[in-house]
Amino acid sequence: MYIQNRFRFLIAAALVSTLVSALVAPPAVFAEGDGNKKIAGTAKQARTIPCSKVKLVLQITIDQLRGDLPLRFRSRFGEGGFRYLLDNGAYFANAHYKHADTETAPGHATLVTGATPAQHGIISSEWWDPEKKKIVYAVEDENYPLLGENLESTAGSSTTIEGRAPTNLQSTTIGDEIFIASEKQARVFGVSGKDRGAVLPAGRAGKAFWLSSGKMVTSSYYYKKPPQWVTTWNDRKLADSYKDKNWELLNNRETYWRKDLDKRPYEGGFEHLKKEMPKSFATEKSKHFYKGLMHSYVNDELVLDFAKHLISDRQLGKRESVDYLSISFSSIDYVGHTWGIESLESEDTLLRVDRNLADLFKHVDSTVGLENTMIVLSADHGVAEIAEYMQGLGFPSKVIDSRALVKHIRDSLKKRFSTDKDLVAHFLYPYIYLNEAVLSDLKLDMEEVEEETAKAAMAFPGITYAVGEAAIKEGELPTDNANTIYARIINNYHPKRSGHVHLVADQYKMLVHWEWNGKPGMHGTVWSYDSFVPVVFTGPGIKARRIVRRVGPHDIAPTIAAYLGIKPPSGAVGDPLVEVVPETNW
Ligand SMILES: [Zn+2]
Repeated sequence: MYIQNRFRFLIAAALVSTLVSALVAPPAVFAEGDGNKKIAGTAKQARTIPCSKVKLVLQITIDQLRGDLPLRFRSRFGEGGFRYLLDNGAYFANAHYKHADTETAPGHATLVTGATPAQHGIISSEWWDPEKKKIVYAVEDENYPLLGENLESTAGSSTTIEGRAPTNLQSTTIGDEIFIASEKQARVFGVSGKDRGAVLPAGRAGKAFWLSSGKMVTSSYYYKKPPQWVTTWNDRKLADSYKDKNWELLNNRETYWRKDLDKRPYEGGFEHLKKEMPKSFATEKSKHFYKGLMHSYVNDELVLDFAKHLISDRQLGKRESVDYLSISFSSIDYVGHTWGIESLESEDTLLRVDRNLADLFKHVDSTVGLENTMIVLSADHGVAEIAEYMQGLGFPSKVIDSRALVKHIRDSLKKRFSTDKDLVAHFLYPYIYLNEAVLSDLKLDMEEVEEETAKAAMAFPGITYAVGEAAIKEGELPTDNANTIYARIINNYHPKRSGHVHLVADQYKMLVHWEWNGKPGMHGTVWSYDSFVPVVFTGPGIKARRIVRRVGPHDIAPTIAAYLGIKPPSGAVGDPLVEVVPETNW
């Protein structure tokens, strides 16, 4: 490839000139770097990151892509997408999260920090903040409003705050560390259909963009006004081109495993997008139109198109430094929640994810060169099949009525402590927050109330375990096996953000946040179907192989750091994967 050869020459020239200048001159002063600036002139920056093999780290997250899906669908995929990764990558076929709340925000934070929620602080999509005395959403920050007008946040939470920033994230990210080690030369970006899928991966050094009403938006944390190259993309109004389109199946219906699994009574829908395939995107209400796109494969197509524009316009991978781009695709998650991961809609969306990956890799090859790119693909969490579908297969699956559960706990505590006051302040999955002011008024012992809350919760059908904060702090949970629910509870525990009592539902019993009640497909539990995700790396020196030992997404950021020869993110607890970091790297 012409570009690659040219850069080889430049690297060689830069090495020679570095050696010469080291002999005859004081060390060079590094030029000011900034992810916003166009490349000025020829790249002369000496490389401050030891690994000389990659120019771009591309971290791809497929929201809700459970670990079995890439392998099960292997024969259904085309060339150049998932198959490129499977044929060329180190594929970890037994990767699990080791935290309890397997949701989008904690998952993305772990993917980029190598930390568990205990260390990165993103314990859930929302939590009670004792200092602000309110519920906060993982990536909200009122100090940094969205840039633009008539924008809607994409929060799956009860927050009304429209500002977005990574300020709740307590660890540095791998993008931050690349930026630091590059001495400000690296460009770092996070792109997603969801705000939290962009803001957390971009970290503090990067720039984040996510979809809102069919446009890519950002906040004042990153820019004073939207950059021109973003406005240029938004002005194309790509989302509006779907107004006359239908969601048709990508391939001939006869080739689909689930060709007869359409229009099941327990599937959901979104407004004009009903249970049956095909579906029309057209609707009178523009608000519903854009939200409808979010609930379909189009979400990913918009993100992909913007990411390709970003790679080209920002000239990623074209300088001496390593650049970092995180792309998080959300369609599988929206579709899985709405029609079920075992639905015809999900099958179609997964085949489309494969084609999108092929398109993305082709673009990366023609701009940066795949031989200069480290790609890591994973997911933020897995998912369970819809409860009614599992029942049909003979499994005792069920959705727990969380309102009835919380009412039961409230009533039990009133009776036990002979009071008519409400001792429960909030239920924010997976935590019950007790009302500290009322407990104090009634002179009740917190530890005792926690124990009674746990006891009451466990008396409710479908709750397998509940434990109070005091018991976690005092080390009462067994820690001899790092993969048990007890270890996952501890890894999710944050002294300033976690609630007083942690609830765990039975296997295949769905217990989630209020706002996801009524969504057919669910995730968020400690169980394997939710913790199991794919992890695959490709890049220079990485050999194609399948690895079945247990690893996790918390190992990804430490692996990238070890591969590049830089320090891991500040909160990381994972280990570098030896199958990815070649022994010849030094
Ligand atoms: Zn989800």
